[in-house]
Amino acid sequence: MTGIAEILEEIAAAMAAAEDRGKVADYIPELAGVDPNQFGIAVVLADGTELVAGDAATPFSIQSISKVFALTLALGRLGDRLWQRVGREPSGYAFNSILQLEQEQGIPRNPFINAGAIVVTDAVLAGHAPREYLGELLRFIRMAADDEDIHINRDVAKSETETGHRNFALAHYLSAFGNLMNPPDRALGAYFHQCAVEMTCLQLARAGRFLMRAEGGPRLVSAERVRRINALMMTCGHYDGSGEFAFRVGLPGKSGVGGGILVIAPGRASIAVWSPGLNENGNSQLGTAAVEMLARRAGWSVFG
Ligand code: GLN
Repeated sequence: MTGIAEILEEIAAAMAAAEDRGKVADYIPELAGVDPNQFGIAVVLADGTELVAGDAATPFSIQSISKVFALTLALGRLGDRLWQRVGREPSGYAFNSILQLEQEQGIPRNPFINAGAIVVTDAVLAGHAPREYLGELLRFIRMAADDEDIHINRDVAKSETETGHRNFALAHYLSAFGNLMNPPDRALGAYFHQCAVEMTCLQLARAGRFLMRAEGGPRLVSAERVRRINALMMTCGHYDGSGEFAFRVGLPGKSGVGGGILVIAPGRASIAVWSPGLNENGNSQLGTAAVEMLARRAGWSVFG
């Protein structure tokens, strides 16, 4: 079999030549100016080997990938009580849709759509100052990545605070149904800052190691919890594109509108890919194509 390093070089070359690179998210003004011609990928294998190609050392806004780390913290804090406030089913709607919230009485479908993630952040906040929560989240991410040099980009958070009308609508709606404990602006302040964490592909792939549960790798949460987080990433991690991602890649993944995707090959690899242009579902266009190529060439799929 061709080595993973060679496969990554081939992927990076193919992505550099790609013409249709998708469209950079422009509803967060601070992200609108990101150069779409960038592409990076990093893979940490079960034995600890690290492989990178392209712009794997360039920090990007992890956006909704932060929802994985927030969910991990929330489950640690609340355990199964969290599921009284948020569901575990794919939504079939866009990440920022408000439709289902009305139909389903303020209980978001899953923790990865925005409404669900706002509830998760609200649950971990639980009366603490947003600063304390964000400190805890950063400590967790830094510990998982074994890297202190991971920060929140305040300009991105500010930009989203000023323009995040849909998220404000979702938060107020949740409040109206009694499913938000903190005032909407407080919960959203924490949520916007969590989304504004910046990481490189290599840092993100390292932070994801606890989800691959390799022999001798970091054990930050129980095996059962890892399986459940991976199951949610598989079924809900790409919103209304989750079925397509499972079909094409066959691995659990979580995307963000910054163009990053964290993908887990259980027992084998933690993969981070980044390219800012998005497809119609708000998931990285080239990032998806790249992990599809990698999974196929490496023979990685949870479906056999
Ligand atoms: N901060 C973004 C938002 O709430 C995250 C969305 C995403 O990455 N899909 O709109």
